[in-house]
Amino acid sequence: MQISNEQLALVNKQIDALIKADNFYGKRLKEAGVSGVKDAAEFEKLPFSEKNDLREAYPLGLMTAPEEEIVRIHSSSGTTGLPVIIPYTAKDVDDWGEMFKRCYEYAGITNKDRIHITPGYGLWTAGIGFQNGAEKLGAMVIPMGPGNTDKQLQMMQDLGSTVLCATSSYALLLAEEIEKRGIKDNIKLKKGVIGSERWGEKMRNRIKNELGIELYDIYGLTEIYGPGIGINCKYDTGMHYWDDYIYIEIIDPVTLKPVPDGEMGEIVITTLVKEGAPLIRYRTHDLSRIIPGECPCGSKHPRLDAIMGRTDDMMKIKGVNVFPSQIEEILKTFPELSSEYQIRISHLDGKDTMRIYVETNGSVDFAAISKDVADRVKSKIGFTPLVKVVEVGVLPRSEKKTKRVIDERYE
Ligand code: ZN
Repeated sequence: MQISNEQLALVNKQIDALIKADNFYGKRLKEAGVSGVKDAAEFEKLPFSEKNDLREAYPLGLMTAPEEEIVRIHSSSGTTGLPVIIPYTAKDVDDWGEMFKRCYEYAGITNKDRIHITPGYGLWTAGIGFQNGAEKLGAMVIPMGPGNTDKQLQMMQDLGSTVLCATSSYALLLAEEIEKRGIKDNIKLKKGVIGSERWGEKMRNRIKNELGIELYDIYGLTEIYGPGIGINCKYDTGMHYWDDYIYIEIIDPVTLKPVPDGEMGEIVITTLVKEGAPLIRYRTHDLSRIIPGECPCGSKHPRLDAIMGRTDDMMKIKGVNVFPSQIEEILKTFPELSSEYQIRISHLDGKDTMRIYVETNGSVDFAAISKDVADRVKSKIGFTPLVKVVEVGVLPRSEKKTKRVIDERYE
């Protein structure tokens, strides 16, 4: 998805503001002698920005608009080191609300809905993001925040909440509680708007079936406004994102070069109209791809596929970038295989090999399924793995996250 002339004009305004503010990115531009970009090729030469740059700017080094225009800050949780502080102007808050309102509209939610918001309020962008958009839509907000399941379910019944905003794990917990308490008939939920953590198809189906609702995935990150920069529509063909506010490129995380539409890589985002803390070519380390073509809904907003993991999970085999989630997607298309698998990568006789261990039961022809899996990996990803089929129960299982990829090349 090449950057358009309209988007380039907006990027140039962001560049002017960053140079004027003389923050880390403004300095980087000055060092590179860049004062603007006139085409896509020049844009693709702009330096990237990273989470570490944002951390080093702590506390307010990202502030790009004059202080009197800043009305709020948000912060990402600093699990490692310093948190990142993002300043917002009134226009940024308003723009974010507009984008989120559009998300609700794409999910078919209206001002007659009652929106039950369970993500947290405070420094995080979660709860208040869901709320801003809902208020702009004119819907009734029920600002619960997280926790206190008894009260959640009471309010959900008494107020007749029709939309649930939650993380996937909390939505599942509520679904199970509703089932356990036998109160499903008192629940009026029709739709769920779920934060963009990576979640499996199985979990998705459980929430969908137990609550009997339609589910919508919302995308976003604190560094770029927060949740609400994209959502899937009812055709469920990927998440539409708002290309009038952000420009998305997908790059190869190793060569750092943009990849063609349809190819998997790292999501890199440029804000187009942000004032408080514009970001140019921000590396998210989230993996996805741009879905080529048009959605049956007719929307002109481009689409991102579901988030397939993080760049840290990437493996390079025979010169091809591979993500465990790609293998997982392929294995899922074989109903005769269990959900367990293991990938082992080794370097034998001067070349990389991938062995995939899969499980099935004794009634299946092991040799035939091994060949089918290998063929499908070859056609989808581009190299042939060795597929070893074992009996169900042979592969290791653990309560915590099972280690599925073992790279023996570096052991
Ligand atoms: Zn659509």
